[in-house]
Amino acid sequence: MTARVLVVDDIIANVRLLEAKLAAEYFDVVTAMNGLDALDMVQRTKPDIILLDVMMPGIDGIEVCTRLKANPATQHIPIIMVTALDQPEDRLRGLKAGADDFLTKPVNDISLFCRVKSLVRLKMLTDELRGRAETGGSIGLMLRAEGQQQSREGNVLLVDTKQTSVERIQAALAGYHKITVAEDPQKAVEVAAAGVSPFELVIISLGADGYDGLRLVSQFRSYEATRQTPILVVVDPAEQQQLLRALDMGVNDYLMRPVDRQELLARVNTQVKRWRYTEQLRSNVKASIEMAITDPLTGLYNRRYLETHLSHLMDSYVNRGKILSSLAIDVDFFKAINDTHGHDAGDQVLRELAQRIKQATRSVDLCCRTGGEEFVLVLPGTDLPSAMMIGERMRKLIATRSFSIGGGKAIPVTVSIGVSSLDGVEDTPAKLLKRADEALYAAKREGRNRVEMAAA
Ligand code: GH3
Ligand code: MG
Ligand code: MG
Repeated sequence: MTARVLVVDDIIANVRLLEAKLAAEYFDVVTAMNGLDALDMVQRTKPDIILLDVMMPGIDGIEVCTRLKANPATQHIPIIMVTALDQPEDRLRGLKAGADDFLTKPVNDISLFCRVKSLVRLKMLTDELRGRAETGGSIGLMLRAEGQQQSREGNVLLVDTKQTSVERIQAALAGYHKITVAEDPQKAVEVAAAGVSPFELVIISLGADGYDGLRLVSQFRSYEATRQTPILVVVDPAEQQQLLRALDMGVNDYLMRPVDRQELLARVNTQVKRWRYTEQLRSNVKASIEMAITDPLTGLYNRRYLETHLSHLMDSYVNRGKILSSLAIDVDFFKAINDTHGHDAGDQVLRELAQRIKQATRSVDLCCRTGGEEFVLVLPGTDLPSAMMIGERMRKLIATRSFSIGGGKAIPVTVSIGVSSLDGVEDTPAKLLKRADEALYAAKREGRNRVEMAAA
């Protein structure tokens, strides 16, 4: 992984030290020596992450952080505050200003790379998701995601067999997060993997008795339901090798023993908050994709989806001599239903109709609402005689059972259906649909509540 890191510090020796460490790991490093410089560099170089010294003359680190987090164009750039060990209140001020993480001087290599890589990975994921959701047109949903992340307590799984350590961690998080202690670590992995009550963070003590912490990490990372779940490991200072392995395996953060309560709580809060934010983005992406291809009234696919999907299908079908049919369905005298029973009753009929159509088709069939009371079905692998039978079955399914329109009332509804099938290598989606439409008009002319096939 490579990324551009902006290092900001008013002391040149500090800048050079961080620059050398990061460059040795192939990060692209840019630097600034004061607050104003830093703001200017952000505009010009668009860094992926910023390491920001707190104490600087003029505009200090807190002020730089506040300004960047207040600007929509820069608020998604992660900021790591670099604080002096003897200034714990700087951490609080940094948090309030919106900083994403902290490093204490002198900066230790493991914590530097763990935190930088973890935040860069997160930024790349969220940039990607934001981009996709925005093109999907759900910017409104997106803005909602920004606010609501830290209201309720997090659902945290704790894997630790040492009683004193379990108690200390529970005490630090009590009142803020709901902790489930894994009595049997191996079983806990299976429960989490089942995904019934999704954990928002897993804390694993490395080096405790009765289980292999690294093996658990790799198991959590390999199951679908827990692949993305954040993991925080707790380690002894003597367990450097284990920690490095854990970080390689994609652990999100770590804490050294003895566990500092404030730091534990801050790191757990951060992980839970980030998890919620990315989950919200993921669901926005899903929602925006669905919005773009489905009809909100019936949940069926829309015309746009029909057109793109059908042309893909036909590309792969035409030249391989495979068969495919399409049905054009139109409600008979639908205007009269609206006029007599109201528009809402009409909507209800359309929803019920969509359900009956879905019922009568297979999952590989494509069901679309292409206009007001017009539907198109695409049936892969189905020839004309079979498609006629399916059309006839569908016609009956609609005509023989009345449609409920609320208020205890039910009304009869009928449809006319036109059927066409793929016809030779010259055929196109537009021609196929046009032939089904012509057959549909024939069905209307012949008296409605009928199925007609396209003329050969
Ligand atoms: P035909 O048997 O010839 O198909 O007659 P029809 O009345 O069904 O056809 P026409 O195309 O004249 O009327 C369709 C009506 O569908 C007109 C329009 O107001 C209504 N409509 C279109 N979209 C919707 C909708 O989303 N909900 C409701 N309730 N009505 C709709
Ligand atoms: Mg109609
Ligand atoms: Mg119509």
